[in-house]
Amino acid sequence: AETKSKQIIEQTEKYGAKNYHPLPIVISQAEGVWVYDPEGNQYMDMLSAYSAVNQGHRHPKIIQALKDQADKITLTSRAFHNDQLGPWYEKVANITNKEMILPMNTGAEAVETAIKAARRWAYDIKGVKENQAEIIVCEGNFHGRTMAAISLSTETEYKRGFGPLLPGIKHIPYGDVNALKEAITENTAAFLLEPIQGEAGINIPPEGFLKEAYEICKREDVLFIADEIQSGLGRSGKMFACDWESVEPDMYILGKALGGGVFPISCVAANKEILGVFNPGSHGSTFGGNPLACAVSMAALEVIEEEMLPERALELGNYFMKKLKQIENPEIKEVRGKGLFIGIELGTHARPFCERLKDEGLLCKETHDTVIRFAPPLVITKEELNWAYEKIRKVLSK
Ligand code: PLP
Repeated sequence: AETKSKQIIEQTEKYGAKNYHPLPIVISQAEGVWVYDPEGNQYMDMLSAYSAVNQGHRHPKIIQALKDQADKITLTSRAFHNDQLGPWYEKVANITNKEMILPMNTGAEAVETAIKAARRWAYDIKGVKENQAEIIVCEGNFHGRTMAAISLSTETEYKRGFGPLLPGIKHIPYGDVNALKEAITENTAAFLLEPIQGEAGINIPPEGFLKEAYEICKREDVLFIADEIQSGLGRSGKMFACDWESVEPDMYILGKALGGGVFPISCVAANKEILGVFNPGSHGSTFGGNPLACAVSMAALEVIEEEMLPERALELGNYFMKKLKQIENPEIKEVRGKGLFIGIELGTHARPFCERLKDEGLLCKETHDTVIRFAPPLVITKEELNWAYEKIRKVLSK
């Protein structure tokens, strides 16, 4: 008999635009690190919705916050104040050590916001001539799928057929300090980067790069903007991946786990000198800063702190990576990562391995063709990691 999963996949493929290539599995229920298909099969989630579910699926505290807030008020728009936004601002300001927050919904929208802030800062504060502002970004970056975000990209497939793209963008190789120095001009508004590149394959910059790049930016009056949408909020074994080099960026871009995988919310955090460039009418979002998102995000941030998820990620990540490095297979080129943000680079396509891991009950996704990414919810236990390791060893051993 045809399974429910098969029906659903057929229906999804029939009507849906083909902008994704999912593994053939339907998930209809989840708890913590485990997800289930309609037939009741259990899988471990080692992707965490691209790090949006750092707190684990349906964390009870976050779900309670969602339910409680749903019974009060869900959306006011920013035409009026709501009682959840102020406390949430203060929380995010404390965590980021920044004076101002601007809330949006998705990661890409927060990236857009950061670009707008940087450009206006360049004109209003730095004194760059109208329409001359430049943003420097890194090769291999991923900042989302909106027009501005794809304009930053060096991937042809992300951009093909979508032009004309945004001007005023310069690329440097990821981790190249000298290239950064050379790329900066009097018109440079900002250097925008992922402190660890996620979609590019868990690329970790050479040690010292973040710090040196930050210092160059300071010297040259260029904003250092960290897209911590995927690397932040505990994933890398620190609250922010920039913490690895004690760098406090001028601007943080946050998303994903900011909503605990329960409700979309993103933001930009920076000091008044930068975010102060926005005035009423210059930017906004109907859903940005809505009380439901703020209540959920408040709980999501409290869970990260109360359950010490960055510390957990650090300890368990070290443990897990050490084990992964023991797997012997000539196709394994490198095991790299920080915290529970881990990639195995292969000398061949990663997809068949992800499919075999799925058959073993472990869900992960290839990134950039040759990298298997392991990014489980940070609430995972050592026993669960041991379980995962056995499956991975079985599939990857030669
Ligand atoms: N920036 C980074 C570093 C990301 O990893 C992502 C998503 O993968 C985004 C931006 C875009 O976020 P969203 O998909 O919520 O628009």
